Amino acid sequence: MTSHILVVEDEAKLAQFIKMELEFEKYQVTHAVDGFSGLSSAREMKPDLILLDWMLPGISGPEICRRLRETGDKVPIILLTAKDEVSDRVAGLDAGADDYVIKPFSIEELLARVRANLRRDTEEEVDLLQFGDLTLNRSTREIFRGQRLIELTAKEFDLLEYLLSHPRQVLTREQILERVWGYDFMGDSNIIEVYVRYLRLKLEQQQEIRLIQTVRGVGYVLRE
Ligand code: CA
Repeated sequence: MTSHILVVEDEAKLAQFIKMELEFEKYQVTHAVDGFSGLSSAREMKPDLILLDWMLPGISGPEICRRLRETGDKVPIILLTAKDEVSDRVAGLDAGADDYVIKPFSIEELLARVRANLRRDTEEEVDLLQFGDLTLNRSTREIFRGQRLIELTAKEFDLLEYLLSHPRQVLTREQILERVWGYDFMGDSNIIEVYVRYLRLKLEQQQEIRLIQTVRGVGYVLRE
């Protein structure tokens, strides 16, 4: 199903560019030019995601965010923030935004954030993930292999959660990096190997069968 994205941006050229790129990626796009029409479009059209400029005529981006959250609207919101507003970005997240992108941004960067936030929205509905004798509880953040409770660090948990939410599906190294470490991760890409090794050690402590398989040259897959 096509995701519907609301773009609230008063800079006409930028808005046109974003709209064109999103439509090229097969998203359905609505454009609002100021705060008031942005807020009413958000309420009436129930988009799947909102790209929200910070400085807008009428009502500001963070204020729109706050008003939507007040009424229980959980739509993913990405704030578009100018460089000199970066120190305020915490305020934007406080207002209930899920994410922000700093202008000027590359379109690839923006699309990656859009994809990540749309995925987050659809995947958060399941609390308990299971595969074989492995169980992960998203709300308590507990992992069990059979009856054995396994202690994981935050990143190990995120990586295992990502694998468990895509069983038998090969996840590329790029997908894993983007999803677990963030699109802007600049460190060593061997980090995935390192964390997979940690996870295997913990999951196979009692000689249990291997669940995280390496797909040489590509990435990893959860498979028996
Ligand atoms: Ca603006």
